[in-house]
Amino acid sequence: MISRRSFITKSSLTVAGIGLAKSGFSINSAQNNNKLPIVISTWNHGLPANEAAWKILSAGGHSLDAVEAGVRIPEGDPKVITVGKGGIPDAAGKVTLDACIMDEKGRAGSVTYLQHIVHPISVARLVMEKTPHVMLSGKGALKFALDNGFSKEKLLTKERKVAWKKWKKEQKEFSNKINIENVTEDNHDTIGMLAIDKDGRISGACTTSGMGYKMPGRVGDSPIIGAGLFVDGDIGGAVATGSGELVMKTLGTFLVVELMRNGMSPSQACEEAVKRIAKKIPDYEKHQIGYIALNIAGEYGSFCINTGFNFAIKTADKTGMEDAEAWLKKL
Ligand code: ASP
Repeated sequence: MISRRSFITKSSLTVAGIGLAKSGFSINSAQNNNKLPIVISTWNHGLPANEAAWKILSAGGHSLDAVEAGVRIPEGDPKVITVGKGGIPDAAGKVTLDACIMDEKGRAGSVTYLQHIVHPISVARLVMEKTPHVMLSGKGALKFALDNGFSKEKLLTKERKVAWKKWKKEQKEFSNKINIENVTEDNHDTIGMLAIDKDGRISGACTTSGMGYKMPGRVGDSPIIGAGLFVDGDIGGAVATGSGELVMKTLGTFLVVELMRNGMSPSQACEEAVKRIAKKIPDYEKHQIGYIALNIAGEYGSFCINTGFNFAIKTADKTGMEDAEAWLKKL
């Protein structure tokens, strides 16, 4: 009898064997068909975020403006406890935010460990547009934001403070003896968004308060270009949500885009990237990872480890949520 682990290992070999040989592959742009514009984003909070993005896309605006405006909605909503204001704090009770943004020209900006600023995505965009760098972190990122007109706000809400104190009492602190892959946690729901505008330009954004009660100083996948988000204007883009350590170790969204470059559909590419995690990371079953991807033909897809990951879609004829297929259900 074949064990589940060895089945996973065997089926994942197909991933390793793919190689990146067909480098000339190109996807026909959807610019001249009716699939555009389109916006997709992770989880239920993607619905209002997509609406904000759609206002810009339907008026003929640039996808970069659309994804920024879109993800600012959950960033500013204190009821969304995994992004921006009202996000779950780290183990020391501090809300620290990670975000990145990328456009069809391959330009990228990112902030990590940013405190006191409600809209890290807009700071990330400014890093991209106004500095020679890609990523600013911690105090430097905060100084840059304040120097550029952002103001300090309190991000920790009363509700999250009460919940954090309760968690502290239960002494569930992360220990450096614990490998993060052996820790189950449900406190994650980053918003990642991908959009193509009517002129065929694709952009993506990803923003989060990160894993709830993380160790102080911890930065996840979400602000890392190629992990939480990757966009290639000739191919498409992908975003990730879930336990960021697993995504970082496999450079998940870069992998998804490269697999699309080599001819896979967005769904197939997301599935192969999840299988890569299944092959490489022990105890991955305890975690959730969800990928969504969009190619420049306007086709989209998704895949996740555990059932329960969904994403929001908006086009001229479609508004709603779709469930991602799950690897552990497929086994
Ligand atoms: N990926 C995020 C992180 O690890 C968490 C999430 O997706 O909610 O920080």
